[in-house]
Amino acid sequence: MIYQGNAVSVQLLDDGIAELKFDLQGESVNKFNRATLEDFQKAIDAIKGSDQIKGLIVTSGKKVFIVGADITEFTEMFAQEEAEIAKWSREANNIFSAFEDLDIPKVVAINGFAMGGGLEMCLVCDFRVMSEQAQIGLPEVKLGIFPAFGGTVRMPRLVGVDNAVEWIATGAQQRPEKALKDGVVDAVVKHDDLHNAAIDLVKQCLAGKIDFRAKRQEKLEPLKLPPMENMMAFQTCTAMVMQQAGKNYPAPVEAVKVMQKAAGMKREEALDVEAQGFAKVAKTPQATALVGLFLADQQVKKVNGKVAKTAKDIQQAAVLGAGIMGGGIAFQSALKGTPIIMKDIADKALDLGMNEASKLLAKRVAKGKMDAAKMGKVLSSIRPTLNYGDFENVNVIVEAVVENTKVKQSVLAEVEEKVADGTILASNTSTISITKLAEALKKPENFGGMHFFNPVHMMPLVEVIRGEKTSDETIATLVAYAQKMGKNPIVVNDCPGFLVNRVLFPYFAGFGMLVRDGADFQQVDKVMQKFGWPMGPAYLLDVVGIDTGVHAAKVMAEGFPDRMQHDFKDPTEIMFENERYGQKNGIGFYRYEQDKKGKPKKVADEGSYELLKPMAAERKEFDAEEIIARMMIPMCTETVRCLEDNIVGSAAEADMAMIYGIGFPPFRGGPLRYIDSIGTKAFADLCDKYAHLGALYEAPQMLKDKAAKGESFFA
Ligand code: NAD
Repeated sequence: MIYQGNAVSVQLLDDGIAELKFDLQGESVNKFNRATLEDFQKAIDAIKGSDQIKGLIVTSGKKVFIVGADITEFTEMFAQEEAEIAKWSREANNIFSAFEDLDIPKVVAINGFAMGGGLEMCLVCDFRVMSEQAQIGLPEVKLGIFPAFGGTVRMPRLVGVDNAVEWIATGAQQRPEKALKDGVVDAVVKHDDLHNAAIDLVKQCLAGKIDFRAKRQEKLEPLKLPPMENMMAFQTCTAMVMQQAGKNYPAPVEAVKVMQKAAGMKREEALDVEAQGFAKVAKTPQATALVGLFLADQQVKKVNGKVAKTAKDIQQAAVLGAGIMGGGIAFQSALKGTPIIMKDIADKALDLGMNEASKLLAKRVAKGKMDAAKMGKVLSSIRPTLNYGDFENVNVIVEAVVENTKVKQSVLAEVEEKVADGTILASNTSTISITKLAEALKKPENFGGMHFFNPVHMMPLVEVIRGEKTSDETIATLVAYAQKMGKNPIVVNDCPGFLVNRVLFPYFAGFGMLVRDGADFQQVDKVMQKFGWPMGPAYLLDVVGIDTGVHAAKVMAEGFPDRMQHDFKDPTEIMFENERYGQKNGIGFYRYEQDKKGKPKKVADEGSYELLKPMAAERKEFDAEEIIARMMIPMCTETVRCLEDNIVGSAAEADMAMIYGIGFPPFRGGPLRYIDSIGTKAFADLCDKYAHLGALYEAPQMLKDKAAKGESFFA
């Protein structure tokens, strides 16, 4: 053994070829934390000190190669001054450069995930051999930053500007075929042949058949293309990246700028430019929010992992109702491998449900994401039925019949009689209390809420709702089932609207008051979309369904009369009274026409303004800032109240639910992180400024306390 550290070892194999292996002790994956970097430096020194090593293969002792930098170290690091952050990147790069400069052929064997810093490690090697099971990529932009272990320097020099921009600016995870085609790797081999293939390549270098020094030299020099052509390539890319990323996500554009600035430079100078650019993006609020989001996501997964430990085994599921939601739930369950019985009272509904599943699967087959045999298998694991035969073998049942307390209670009581003792029941209700529904059951402990979002196959969130009598085992089983379906469950306690709708409806209330006070709903939509929402509130209400919106708002007003009842006619109610139900009947706040693909396209409709006239003050322009404050305060304060009332267990879960469930702008991190980004004190002051608008704008006690103590929701 030439070197043995805690994360890296170097061992001499045969013929002067050594193996440098990453294998971080005490962890399931390799990552570039500070300790690994230090260990890597020591391994390099040991290689330098050995006169036996003629060539090197780089491998991993884990299933993955290296997953990237240690993101848990980012929050603290990014809190430092820009100069300190740049120094960190530069120092890390000195280690990578020292490795690159070892005058021996170095071939990496990429056995599994090589992401971010992991792939940058591969780029430092002279050649890259990839297992056909591995995947690689530079996903840093998803965290609001860009590669800073030399990725922006080596990528364009190895694979050209276009490819480098694509890999870095999209952050996409890539398969072996694409990696080989773009020249990011030099060979793709069967997984079992990987080790030998890497050694073979080193031997060819040693035999003089391949000039590894020439290959390496390309990475040390300025970009090959003449300056004019480089400039053109960068200009085209910048425009494209800007358009795709949008101004709310500055990192991809900054990455392209850094590559362009360093195009005419040699490696070390170019690495300086990378380090400075990186430090700049690391200090953006987007990076803070997106890194926070990543960590919150990890925290939620950890919490769920713990909860799901006591789950019952789920082999067979059932869904009651084959409508929009029931059909979607059946499709998703079958797709992810849990066979499901789909029961309805109408033959026609079953046909519709099966047709919908079949259409979704056919799309996958057409896109090459699935073969026909798998499609057949998935379809045959959905069993449509009109009766309760075989229900005694079902482990978990989701009720998704019409939104009516009496109907739901009678359906749940009926099915409870047909199942085995330990079967877990859930309701997909959007507005009815889980505790109330449980009153109809003999074993309320076996019952909870499982609130999916529409369309089920697209929306990542499932709210798992604990009623007063729901047992821990029931919650565990529902969390496990949601995970098995590929969804992100968040456990919440029962209350009107649960978590997501309880927080969303105050936002709609803010919208109603703005229109009442003379705001143009189209201006509000534009401002909120620019703020980062996938769509503005009026358009969202049209998409959700005006009738659904009015019904849910009524439930919320009954549940929280002190702040959610209003004393004026709300614009959504006016639309409802005029049978403008939104996209579903072609007219709501907007009118809907079919585009070329047959999808609904919204167009402005003067009629809406006419209808709103009697309830609204004279139309006037509002400042974007005021619109944002009046829309966001009610949503954010209600999220704080949910935390105060213990509806949700942590700030991380609350924020993630809003991002997964209603598309809260990810680069703003969620309602609570948004408050943090403004500052709890400044946000509480903003609440005071608008408190005259009603109780939804009053700062909750928890916010006031945090403001007084100078605390934030996230450390
Ligand atoms: P839907 O009207 O499309 O489907 C309801 C289905 O239930 C129909 O096929 C009907 O035939 C069937 N049904 C009625 N009584 C039944 C019974 N006794 N046994 C079996 N089947 C019966 O409604 P949907 O939009 O799918 O909503 C279903 C539930 O999901 C509701 O509680 C709703 O609030 C909730 N939900 C809906 C959405 C949404 O966006 N549509 C989102 C989240 C939750």
